[in-house]
Amino acid sequence: MCGIVGIYATDNVVKDIYQGLLAIQHRGQDSAGIVTYDGRFHTKKGNGLVRDIFTAENFRRLKGNIGIGHTRYPTVGGGSGEDAQPFLVNSPFGIIMAHNGNVINYAELKETIFNKYHRLLNSDNDVEAILNIFAQELAEQKAKKLKPQHIFKAVEGVFSQVKGGYSVVAYIAEQGLVAFRDPFGIKPLVYGRQDNGGLPSYAIASESVCLDIMNFSHIKNVEAGQVVFIDQNRKIHTRKLTRCAHTPCLFEWVYFARPDSFIDNVNVYDCRVHLGRFLADEIKKHKLDIDVVVPVPDSARDAAIEIARALDLKYREALVKNRYIGRTFIMPADQTRRSSVRQKLNPIVSELKGKNVLLVDDSIVRGHTSRAIVEMVRECGAKKVYFGAYSPPLRFPCVYGIDMQTKTEFVARNANLDQIAKKIGVDKVIYQNLELLKKAVNLGNDKLTNFCAACFDGIYPTGDVTSEILKDIEKKRKTDKENQLELNF
Ligand code: SF4
Repeated sequence: MCGIVGIYATDNVVKDIYQGLLAIQHRGQDSAGIVTYDGRFHTKKGNGLVRDIFTAENFRRLKGNIGIGHTRYPTVGGGSGEDAQPFLVNSPFGIIMAHNGNVINYAELKETIFNKYHRLLNSDNDVEAILNIFAQELAEQKAKKLKPQHIFKAVEGVFSQVKGGYSVVAYIAEQGLVAFRDPFGIKPLVYGRQDNGGLPSYAIASESVCLDIMNFSHIKNVEAGQVVFIDQNRKIHTRKLTRCAHTPCLFEWVYFARPDSFIDNVNVYDCRVHLGRFLADEIKKHKLDIDVVVPVPDSARDAAIEIARALDLKYREALVKNRYIGRTFIMPADQTRRSSVRQKLNPIVSELKGKNVLLVDDSIVRGHTSRAIVEMVRECGAKKVYFGAYSPPLRFPCVYGIDMQTKTEFVARNANLDQIAKKIGVDKVIYQNLELLKKAVNLGNDKLTNFCAACFDGIYPTGDVTSEILKDIEKKRKTDKENQLELNF
């Protein structure tokens, strides 16, 4: 999971890109980068949070009315500073590119790019593969000035070779800003406009909240398989290149996206409220003696409030979050994840002591975080602890860019509900039903009927996820983790 933003405006864009990246910091805390253009490219990248990477001196240096920013959680690659995006190739024209997602045939592409195109990929970052194929496809057209059809043809070349889920933003020097979303539209991407008199400005981003913060409006989705090209006259050209079923990632609405964002026209907050209502219906069937509903902050709050309302129960924010500690789910190493739970959450004992507590969370992945929270609640003297997850059991690896790629890690893998409850130490665990999760999204946009739900049901919409690919990703992920552990200790 990563966040991307690109702007083509009239004045310097670095401050807007910085604000935009802060708005989507939740999509990755590992590294960030900004590249701007004013006749040459200016770059600043680094490891860590956006606010810690960019200084006043960087703002002075990053000149230009065009730029791309990225905030990254590592998917392929161990997350070194060298792998931070955006990436640059200097031919043809000079192109910068950033992406959100994961290329599943990366190893094969790396070989093809070297053997067939004689281009060397110099990092472990899969965006470099997309960038080099895009550059090659443009170069082969031998155009001195790029027209929309050249861009569309180059993206067609990318779609035919690059498998996976990816949303991309790129700038081609003196030609224009380009954005595209993979043929299945797995990863979100939106664009908006700003009119200040004169030529309009355009921005492209992973989430609509990013455009809100940067004061762009007329927000539209980049559709599945669609290309958006903003030329040097700031004229916008779009083309949908493929007709695959649009299958957006369901987990965006469950966890990744901010509640104030719209993903494919569905407000994330509204969706989480529906999910709370649906889970409340399921909880009701179990006739549990619940005294208090407690959300695991922050993502579960919206659903938990609705559960308490629907069940007419007391709602208490009995777990207080230290906002200055990173998200545990996207912290790469397990040790980091376990110890950070205690640093991140502190209980209000009086709201838990002697009570039957229903904890509500968005999901249960490996179960380490859930178990640590349950232990903490029991240590406060809770009588019984129930656990409601407003998404279904996660059982399959995500190959499209989310850090849950090793299938043996899932607490729900080969386990029934009683076994899962035992593993995380609760009296009962209640999950959302997958069809109701789809329905919660569909209520916000009835055109959305197909989804990527592969981590829940094992059906990969791109259809080309072989056991070799799964094994490769698992191996790569393991190596990355070992490297990460070495870095941590
Ligand atoms: S496998 Fe799950 S997390 Fe990955 S893209 Fe599909 S729905 Fe999203």
